[in-house]
Amino acid sequence: MQVQGSGKKTLRGLIPVVTLTLFSLLSVASAAGVYIKHISLPDYIGRELTEPEMKEVIKRNSPLTSYVRLSPNADFPRKSEIKKITIHHMAANLSLEKLGESFGKIDRNASSNYGIDINGRVALYVEEENRAWTSSNAENDNMAVTIEVANEETGGDWSVSDRSYAALIELCTDICRRNGIEELVYTGDPEGNLTIHKMFNPNTDCPGPYLEGKMEEIAEKVNENLKK
Ligand SMILES: [Zn+2]
Repeated sequence: MQVQGSGKKTLRGLIPVVTLTLFSLLSVASAAGVYIKHISLPDYIGRELTEPEMKEVIKRNSPLTSYVRLSPNADFPRKSEIKKITIHHMAANLSLEKLGESFGKIDRNASSNYGIDINGRVALYVEEENRAWTSSNAENDNMAVTIEVANEETGGDWSVSDRSYAALIELCTDICRRNGIEELVYTGDPEGNLTIHKMFNPNTDCPGPYLEGKMEEIAEKVNENLKK
């Protein structure tokens, strides 16, 4: 009796120990998973960069960049050559740092190659050689450099500032020059090489009426610059 009784007690006593052990094993396994995910990402991703490191990264991308915060939400490297540009709006007036912070969160599952703030400053979040997760379409984003532009007006026409708009033209020109895109063509559908988010996702109005109304003009201005 005594033996049986103490046996039961021991068994009961074991349940929390077994549960705890299982929990510990699971934690170790998931930590290892996160670690493996981390070490498989290229260096410079998901951490603050020093000034010399930023300069090094900018050398491989647009010289118009003044802020770098590389997002883990991307495919390394992209699967196609760069042939397109896709324009988005932030649907907000975010600073480059705030947008970078948001794209830095793995559970956000989103990023863009570049961002432009209300003052026309340019940030890099995903290097051009990698595919950003921006336009709800892998085929497009594997071919495109994607750009998020801050909104001056939130709601309504979702306009962007003149400084952001000027920076957008400069950035598109620079992307075309460095990647051998001779001409930007906006056809209003994914066939052209200047595309917008809403072409690929019926649930978004991105990049908003203001920028959408400017697409032909953007192509025209960039093409004029490319001829210079
Ligand atoms: Zn968008």
